[in-house]
Amino acid sequence: MVVTPKVKGFLCVTAHPEGCASNVREQIEYVKEKGAIKDGCKTALIIGSSTGYGLASRIVAGFGCGASTIGVYFEREGNEERERPASAGWYNTAEFTKQAEQAGLYTANINGDAFSDEIKQQTIDAIKKSPTGKVDLIVYSLASPRRTDPKTGEVYKSVLKTIGEEREDKSLDTDRGAIVNVKVPVATEREIFETVKTMGGEDWELWIKALDEAGVIAEGCTSMAYSYIGPKLTYPIYRSGTIGMAKEDLEKTAERIDAILKLYRGKAFVSINKALVTQASSAIPVVPLYVSILYKVMKEKGIHEDCIRQMYRLYADNLYNGNFLDFDDAGRVRIDDLELREDVQQAVFDIWPNVTTENLLDITDYAGYKSEFLKLFGFGRPDIDYSKDVSI
Ligand code: NAD
Repeated sequence: MVVTPKVKGFLCVTAHPEGCASNVREQIEYVKEKGAIKDGCKTALIIGSSTGYGLASRIVAGFGCGASTIGVYFEREGNEERERPASAGWYNTAEFTKQAEQAGLYTANINGDAFSDEIKQQTIDAIKKSPTGKVDLIVYSLASPRRTDPKTGEVYKSVLKTIGEEREDKSLDTDRGAIVNVKVPVATEREIFETVKTMGGEDWELWIKALDEAGVIAEGCTSMAYSYIGPKLTYPIYRSGTIGMAKEDLEKTAERIDAILKLYRGKAFVSINKALVTQASSAIPVVPLYVSILYKVMKEKGIHEDCIRQMYRLYADNLYNGNFLDFDDAGRVRIDDLELREDVQQAVFDIWPNVTTENLLDITDYAGYKSEFLKLFGFGRPDIDYSKDVSI
């Protein structure tokens, strides 16, 4: 069938198989060109491996370090009869697997709910079958709006709300390409609790404990999870909001996981990454406008990075290649350093109050934002003929 983009709010409900495959090959090529990473991981488990930062982490582990990879993700298969393409992450994983196997890299994929005990067990079984039988890198890169508690069956939902007082903020309606004011409501105590349960560190810790008990953690194992801080501009909705509470919990959990991994002479930490267009970030109010301005500023300064560039830098310049990790006062690795550079933030801050619907395309990189968004789903690539029939 011919697959076209069907955008609904911050979601595109279709994905192009060849476009997604081409996105993955492009990332693999980038890593190959940058060169092999010395003393890298041998067997990496990536939880949340099909899109965004997790996919890029998997590509760098596989094609940069030459590692076996086990990927856990939650994606929808295609359905020819109902003419429903698979989700982008499904196509991304299919192409990653094809390329990795051609390169002789061991690859195992687990498609299902990472929060469940069942998927954790399936993953442990897959690790045992891998060439080393143990993992020496565990990346936690989940972004999910809900979580079912594996013990009680209770379903927690995360919300994007402020804490304390309601906020009205400038935002971008990405459907209409218009500047609007959004009211960000105040979260209840219960909503804060559920957001922390969903996006906090509890599940990361359950993973490490399950892997520890199963005896599949290798000597020197590293585990890292991803978080975001961002500028004061987005604090009310992000860092000081419900999601920020969950991220603080995740960051505190790193200390407990670090204590477990110390027994293996390993370590755990949180890496604070840069704001980028991904399926998760496009759902956050205010962030698409901030990202459109940030991209404009960082591209003009020649320091813009996408997921694969951020992850390659994390692995090659921080984690491996004979480097030492540089931690901030709170024990976190900061690859958001370029985003938060003073001159970058000042330039964003100067543009912010002046943006209107009329000048959006001139003074921000809204065009770049939109094309990056469509690219997440395999659309808008110059190398793909979108009028052609494709198998979904
Ligand atoms: P994403 O939406 O691209 O990826 C999320 C991944 O989680 C996908 O692989 C998806 O399949 C998987 N997933 C979701 N629910 C699942 C479930 N129940 N079971 C198994 N897999 C599931 O998101 P992203 O932006 O790459 O975010 C990954 C992490 O990076 C998050 O912790 C996020 O907060 C963090 N981060 C993102 C940004 C950003 O700007 N995008 C910046 C800094 C940090």
